[in-house]
Amino acid sequence: AAANDDIRRRIRTIPDFPKPGVQFRDITTLLLDPQGLQLSVERMLDQIAVPVDIVAGIEARGFVFAPAIALALGAGVLLIRKDGKLPGATIAEEYALEYGTDRIAIHADACTPGANVLLVDDLIATGGTARAAVRLLRKAGATVRQAAFVIELPDLGGAEMLRGENLAVTSLVQ
Ligand code: IMP
Repeated sequence: AAANDDIRRRIRTIPDFPKPGVQFRDITTLLLDPQGLQLSVERMLDQIAVPVDIVAGIEARGFVFAPAIALALGAGVLLIRKDGKLPGATIAEEYALEYGTDRIAIHADACTPGANVLLVDDLIATGGTARAAVRLLRKAGATVRQAAFVIELPDLGGAEMLRGENLAVTSLVQ
């Protein structure tokens, strides 16, 4: 973890966003810095421990890292979007938020059965979003064995929970 202090110091914390009491971890400063962008993608690549045919990014900040990783691996990119945004036939999965629920979706024909899919997002907190994404990908026939994040909030237990879903979970900064 200490080795990634060069990444950690490029992440900004914004207090009280999106509501009072929340410390929002903001990666826009990491992305703006050419070295920050390059280091974070390189180190995410270093942590990949499974075969990858497709990199699935979660809207919206997962869309920044997924293509960079996919290009380096010679893999394709799959977009996991908020429900209602994809034009073709979709499958969706609902997940709980602190207040209410949300839904994410993928195209029903997005993965060939058995495709090796790496899940990518900027941050894992409770893991609810990532778990819904993994369920959706597996429903579509994908083999999902790893989820890769820039930031993990360990106190919220999301990574531990995902490991219980038979996944390797990696992050650069905790
Ligand atoms: P979870 O479902 O509780 O694990 O929340 C993770 C999702 O919410 C990811 O898609 C993140 O992009 C987003 N998220 C939650 N907290 C933060 C934060 O502090 N910074 C950036 N994104 C966050």
